This record gives sequence, structure tokens and C-alpha cells, in this order.
Amino acid sequence: MSFVGLLIGGIFYPPIGYFMLICMIAAMAYGVVKGRSWCDWMCPRGSFFDVLLKPFSRQREVPGFFSHWVFRAVWMTVLMSVLAVRLPPLWGDWYSMGKPFVTLLLVTTAVGIIFGLIYHQRIWCMFCPMGSMANMLGRKKQPLLVASGCNGCGQCEKVCRMQIYPGAYKEDGIVADGDCLKCSYCIDECPQKALRLDQ
Ligand code: SF4
Ligand code: SF4
Repeated sequence: MSFVGLLIGGIFYPPIGYFMLICMIAAMAYGVVKGRSWCDWMCPRGSFFDVLLKPFSRQREVPGFFSHWVFRAVWMTVLMSVLAVRLPPLWGDWYSMGKPFVTLLLVTTAVGIIFGLIYHQRIWCMFCPMGSMANMLGRKKQPLLVASGCNGCGQCEKVCRMQIYPGAYKEDGIVADGDCLKCSYCIDECPQKALRLDQ
């Protein structure tokens, strides 16, 4: 609910938009140390999707297109371009400089809600520019390990909000997907106790 308050508050008081900047920095700083674990529950928007959007989402498999790096690069370019165009004319006006951040927050959340209803509540996280940066910065941090006891039952994939299938990495013994949120849902679900996070 606090995220909804943030969105509405930002419309009437633009400096609230700086909160997005704080989240961007935090997600990337956290990413360097712990991969995408910020996106598990600390990201207010991610938590909003999990709590309020999930009951209405169709929970369908997300087409690979949405997490493809070309699509992600497009979103990163859009985000950076909006800031690059809209911030310089407002420079020095700290009150108004929050507006572009609020606009981005509103538009991207609307995109996340629309596609989240059609596909899966966490679809936005599959191409979120901040999440993509955290992916790149912390891909090898605190990796999820798969032991040889994995029997390929697929239970882990069913609970993964990022639609990752850890069992598919059994041969390598390590989940090489940088979008893993290190949430441990799959670890708790695995009947073979074949998964663990490398601390
Ligand atoms: S739940 Fe465990 S045993 Fe089943 S596929 Fe996943 S890692 Fe393997
Ligand atoms: S459920 Fe497992 S694979 Fe999926 S994000 Fe969480 S820790 Fe990573």
C-alpha cells in the first residue's frame, strides 16, 4: 500500500520522485554484492506486484521475448533518454526535477500492471532496467547451487516468480541465470533438498 501512496503522493509532490533514484542506486549497489536479491522483497514495486497484483494475474508463462536482452536494452534506452531530455531544462529547480522520475514511475508501473494481468505479476521484473543492471553487476554473486540429487521433478520452477527452472542447471551444478532473486522459494520447495545458495 505504501507504494500506491508513493505513486499518488508523487503526482502532488514531485520531489517524492527522488525515491525512484534511491531505489535505482540501492538496487545496483545491492546487485554488486548480492545479485538481484534487492528485487526479492526490498523493491517496493516488486512487493506491490506480489501482494496486490498477483491475485488478479493470469499467472501464465512469460514469452522469452520479454526477458531478451534486446528488449531490455530498449527499456534502458527509454529510461535514460527520458531523463536526459527532461532533466537538463529543470536543472537547479529541485522541486520540479522530481517530475520526470514520477512520470517514469507511473508509466512503467502501468506497463507492469497491464502485462502483469495478462501474463504474470512479476513480468515487469524481467525487463526492469534496474533489475537488468543488478543482473549484470551481480550475476555471479551468491549463486544458487544444484546438487546431483536433483531428479528433475520440476517443483522448483513452479514456485519461481522469475520463471527460472533450477533443475535445468543440474549438470553444471550452478544456476547461471542472473535474474535469480535469491529468494529461497525453490530451496524450500525442493523435495530432494538439492538446492542451496552459496553464501
Ligand atoms: S525441485 Fe529439486 S529435485 Fe525437483 S527439479 Fe528442482 S532442484 Fe531438482
Ligand atoms: S525461486 Fe529459486 S531460482 Fe527462482 S528466483 Fe528464487 S532462488 Fe532464484
